[in-house]
Amino acid sequence: TRTQDEEDLPHATKKTMADHLRKYESLFTLTPQRMRMIVEAFKETLELGLEKPEQVVPMIPTYVFGWPTGKETGDFLAVDLGGTNLRVCLVTLQGEGKFEMTQTKYRLTEEQKQEDGQKLFDFCAECLKTFVTTNLEDGTLKEGDTLPLGFTFSYPCFQEKIDHGQLIRWTKGFGAPNTEGRDVAAMFRESLRKHNVPVELTALINDTTGTLIASSYVNPRTKIAVIFGTGCNAAYMEQVKDIPKIKQLGIDPDAEMAINCEWGAFDSFEHEHLPRTKYDIIIDEQSNKPGEQAFEKLISGRYLGEILRLVICELIDDGVLFLGQETYKIEIAYALDTAFLSLMESDPTEELLMIIGIFTHFFALETTLAERQFFRALAKLVGRRAARLSACGIAAIVSKMNYLEEGCAVGADGSLYNKYPGFADRVHEGLQDVFGDKGRNIVTYHAEDGSGVGSAIIAAMTKVRKDAGLY
Ligand code: BGC
Ligand code: MG
Repeated sequence: TRTQDEEDLPHATKKTMADHLRKYESLFTLTPQRMRMIVEAFKETLELGLEKPEQVVPMIPTYVFGWPTGKETGDFLAVDLGGTNLRVCLVTLQGEGKFEMTQTKYRLTEEQKQEDGQKLFDFCAECLKTFVTTNLEDGTLKEGDTLPLGFTFSYPCFQEKIDHGQLIRWTKGFGAPNTEGRDVAAMFRESLRKHNVPVELTALINDTTGTLIASSYVNPRTKIAVIFGTGCNAAYMEQVKDIPKIKQLGIDPDAEMAINCEWGAFDSFEHEHLPRTKYDIIIDEQSNKPGEQAFEKLISGRYLGEILRLVICELIDDGVLFLGQETYKIEIAYALDTAFLSLMESDPTEELLMIIGIFTHFFALETTLAERQFFRALAKLVGRRAARLSACGIAAIVSKMNYLEEGCAVGADGSLYNKYPGFADRVHEGLQDVFGDKGRNIVTYHAEDGSGVGSAIIAAMTKVRKDAGLY
């Protein structure tokens, strides 16, 4: 039966939809062969990053040495400055891989991401101050005490020690001036001092490093950690002797150190390896960082909705979709959130009622069933490509580290991994396309909270090393 709108408005026919879909299928589909080529190039890039300083994929030594024992204990504060939220946590490590946590979350505004860096850290310090006053008045903190603080700062920072980090570049749409090139730990310390917060910033960590450590605390089979959220990245453990660019005397070559890959930067600037469509190029060119984070821009939650929106807008311009309707709402950049793709893909109703809802409610657009099925199919193409590219990144680390035979667990976190239907399955499928049956040996699972718990464990591990005179 035809609905009212199908009779009144000129809508795209089923046949045109099918023709267009075929075109997009060929643009967004990654064959296993193509994936293997990407993995090879990726692996070489990772190796180069370990060899030489200042590479596009910087392979950052984090000064987090080795795995946690699971016996770490104590109270720790953690501040997590992510791409979307600011979180303040109090973590009590109880040993035996157990912990308790209290936390408060604040949504970051677009203005805060662009205002002066020191102001951003002032805001973090104020939130932490409020949190400490409300949560630690019960006597946990005595007069004159300071609590150790782990600062999870999920942007690429060049580190020479654990409690310092020079911001290489902002990612994920941040642009706060006067921050790139500076030591963000020092900047945050300045804000903490200004606001008289009784804490000591003991470790600056990346979310992936935190996830690696937190995941291993609860699942010792974990060898790799990945984040698929607003941004995307991975960390794993490397032997110091296999990091040729580290020349510091006094570091035991047999020690292990976590590497923050910053793989979101893979294929930046040159764009030689990744299958970028014209939509990806538009996103890149209109971003505040053209050329950068090329891999991340094809994968992470910040961009997937925008990719689909650009496809839809193209079809509007070509007169295929929404003829005779007011389309200005969907023509606003970033108006289509990646969460909508998740909803589109998971809509269980035959009429695709959720998709009707999204389009009428957010964009004041009427859709036919054929169009809704088409949008769902497009979402699937974009989501699937993201997952398969993610598999390429994981495969590159697995192959570089020879983890395939033995197998390993990959702790994964982030909104995309946790909320996008089928994302993990598609990553696993992708790993099998790269490695064949043995790909089954590599299993991702929902990781422990790295930015809170992981940060606390690292602060604890740091304390142990400091007490032993190792820093
Ligand atoms: C940042 C990484 C971070 C990742 C996930 C990327 O944009 O460069 O440092 O780990 O997002 O949050
Ligand atoms: Mg985060």
